[in-house]
Amino acid sequence: MNPAARSADTDALVRLDRAHLVHPVTNWRQHEERGPLILTEARGPWLKDASGHELLDGFAGLWCVNVGYGQESVVRAATEQLHKLPYATGYFDFASEPAIRLAAKLVDITPPSLTRAYLTLGGSEAVDAAARFIVQYWNAVGRPAKKHFISQERGYHGSSSTGAGLTALPVFHRGFDLPLPTQHYIPSPNPYRHPQGGDAQALIAASVASLRAKVAELGADNVAAFFCEPVQGSGGVIVPPVGWLKAMRDAARELDILFVVDEVITGFGRTGPMFACDAEGVEPDLMTLAKGLTSGYLPMGATMLSEKVYAGIADAAPAGVPVGHGATYSAHPVSAAVALEVLRLYTEGGVIANAQRVAPAFAAALDGLRSHPLVGDARCRGLLGALELVSSKATKRGFGAVPGLAERLFASAYRNGVVFRCFGDGVLGFAPALTYTHGDVEQLFARVRKVLDEALAWPDVRAAL
Ligand code: PMP
Repeated sequence: MNPAARSADTDALVRLDRAHLVHPVTNWRQHEERGPLILTEARGPWLKDASGHELLDGFAGLWCVNVGYGQESVVRAATEQLHKLPYATGYFDFASEPAIRLAAKLVDITPPSLTRAYLTLGGSEAVDAAARFIVQYWNAVGRPAKKHFISQERGYHGSSSTGAGLTALPVFHRGFDLPLPTQHYIPSPNPYRHPQGGDAQALIAASVASLRAKVAELGADNVAAFFCEPVQGSGGVIVPPVGWLKAMRDAARELDILFVVDEVITGFGRTGPMFACDAEGVEPDLMTLAKGLTSGYLPMGATMLSEKVYAGIADAAPAGVPVGHGATYSAHPVSAAVALEVLRLYTEGGVIANAQRVAPAFAAALDGLRSHPLVGDARCRGLLGALELVSSKATKRGFGAVPGLAERLFASAYRNGVVFRCFGDGVLGFAPALTYTHGDVEQLFARVRKVLDEALAWPDVRAAL
């Protein structure tokens, strides 16, 4: 934030933030030095900060504000529900109308295999619940040895101990004693970096082979489930070839392990169809959802279960003994009311249709930056995309030797009035609101180009080329 433009009130807030607020996934000591960027208002795709600086949000908050900021009907849905019934527990057989309607709606719009919805506070809790239900399921059906979980390198599945262990990004393990002994990984299906990456069919075959090999190594009788993202988000927007998800689903079925699709980012139109699973007719055993479910207006996630998994658990609980999983805010009625209105905007409000119309321009804009000297790869699916910066296009060498590159790119983006994700390894992530116009896409990438041109002039970046 521009210190000259800050008011005394903002200065006081900055001091309080530095002293007291612990930020998620942030270097705590560096944050104390840098201080916060305090956001004050937002409308459509635009953010404003406490110094009055306007930013075009190219990342929908944290890949969640799919309907854009300032949707009055969502605010109304929340307000009305707050007046009517601000809280209802799901314990003691209580329920609320929005929670019931939302569960039914989610069952209606997710793949046909999914018949039950457990409503959580967000994605991490949805993943954690999925992992716990899977353990419970295999115990319930008399196969208690099935305890091992397989996920993918560069995958991200949230910040609970189970989810962060299923995550295979070193920073989420560092100092947390993760992964757990039951958590294992196979290589990421990364078309740009995998040895078989140049050939879609070979890459799919390699992924299937690595899942089979890992199951064989652990013993099929010991493996509970395979977790994956249809497009890996926090690992750097890694887009596997079309057909990959279906091939992994078929392999998991053959190997007698549960297939879990984490659509926390890819759900609700982000990659084109309502869910990424829909593009390939994939029917998972479990699905995790969050982010776009409420478009970030309030916290909520969901763990979707197939009837097989639900019934396995339900039938094994003796009468009078509860399935011991739940939280005070499970199925929160105000979040559910918001989710229902957001889901209406996606379909009747034309938001997903808009995203499908704008996606070709988004893809073309990313592709147009391939010729930039710093860009090694440009990739996307729907309105989820990335540019991977390299210091050598021929060898695909990254910018690992240039310290603080991500932070400097982010600062340059801020100066140029734009926000996108700058991953530590030189990947720039984009996930604009699904309400973006063609003009917004043009503005976004005009600003991105300015940031790349600035970076190209930095002496240490030039020296690395
Ligand atoms: N799964 C995936 C694929 C995610 O991207 C995220 C969040 N980025 C999560 C789970 C965790 O969700 P939350 O941050 O809402 O807890």
